[in-house]
Amino acid sequence: MSLEGVLARVESVTQWQENLYRHLHSHPELSFQEAETATEVERHLRDAGFEVQRIGGGVVGVLRNAPGPVVLVRADMDALPVLEDTGLAYASTRTMVDAGGMSVPVMHACGHDMHVAAAVGAAALLADARAEWHGTYVALFQPAEENAGGARAMVDAGLVTLVPKPDVCLGQHVLTSPDAGQVGTRSGPMLSTAASIRITVHGSGSHGSMPHLSVDPVVLASAIVLRLQTIVSREVSPFDFAVVTVGSLRAGTSANIIPASATLLVNIRAYDERVRDHLVEAISRIVRAECAASRSPREPDIEVYDTYPLTDNDPEVTATVTAAFLRHFGTERVVADMAPVTASEDFSTIPDAFGTPYTYWGFGGFPAGGPRVPNHNPGFAPVIRPSLRTATEALVVAAMAYLDPVPTPAPSAASGGVGR
Ligand SMILES: [Zn+2]
Ligand SMILES: [Zn+2]
Repeated sequence: MSLEGVLARVESVTQWQENLYRHLHSHPELSFQEAETATEVERHLRDAGFEVQRIGGGVVGVLRNAPGPVVLVRADMDALPVLEDTGLAYASTRTMVDAGGMSVPVMHACGHDMHVAAAVGAAALLADARAEWHGTYVALFQPAEENAGGARAMVDAGLVTLVPKPDVCLGQHVLTSPDAGQVGTRSGPMLSTAASIRITVHGSGSHGSMPHLSVDPVVLASAIVLRLQTIVSREVSPFDFAVVTVGSLRAGTSANIIPASATLLVNIRAYDERVRDHLVEAISRIVRAECAASRSPREPDIEVYDTYPLTDNDPEVTATVTAAFLRHFGTERVVADMAPVTASEDFSTIPDAFGTPYTYWGFGGFPAGGPRVPNHNPGFAPVIRPSLRTATEALVVAAMAYLDPVPTPAPSAASGGVGR
């Protein structure tokens, strides 16, 4: 009965939780600037009776409830530089100054507002129902997932020495699939490992009418874009997953000027760190070779940044959590062994720092049969009902699969009746 005991008050939590979600949605903050969000989270955790610490731009609440297992639940807090176009009454109209000094629109286009609202709600439910379980519940809210820096910042600020070592770490993300009301789990690689690469190739500028006096970086960069497509098609095994995308190519200012350089931003994904390393090596090799082929006057600048680790779910933890989900939600609402997601996460940096097994699952934000707008799109608007409640229950159910349940007294003993 102890899980039911914890979830008994879920309706009362839903009331303020939905308001919190709408508030967070209309007050998004960029990576490493999550000041208001962190303050809001801290207030809720303190009210619920958690010991609260600020660590590396994040907030960690610890609820010690007698000796027992330690469960860490992680939510991310940051939003994106996206101009919101959802038409929602609580849409963001906010702008902020980004790390590069530019004023940009800000939107919760990845649903981290829902992750925060769900994790705050789950923390409140577990705190309210302390009599139902034993152990320590750690509610961790990290900054800057979107630039791959937040989990690392918390670890670098001493996370593993400042909070109890968890026996298990749990995380989740709102996705376009499965459907709203459903959760999806997967053992093994769940999210890809990723990296971005900034490449500047150098040419020699000239008048647009005098190409023979130039080394044209636009032609050079174009050759690189096409040749990079051969890595996945010709170098990576057809049985391995890999993506190479050139998301930005910038050069020049005018039709009649051959510029001196061109800059490409390349993004890569894989489900295997060896494949990722191969992609980085191949990109570097091809860029250097194309530069040589074009008579580039100097070596290209190649910088790897925003490296995301592989999210590789522990089979045992995933089996335990999936079984708990099936018991609570029923087979209709659980997609066990869902397809892996090509996106990436820095979540695993946290359990890896502790040396703790983990599982990370998806929950739906879009009703079956309706339109599905992908994460990071200006129109991304997961439905609050039933998504938020599903996410909240999922956290509680998964955590309670590990926290020691307090057995319900036998009816005869509870009523003080006869027998033993
Ligand atoms: Zn995102
Ligand atoms: Zn996200």
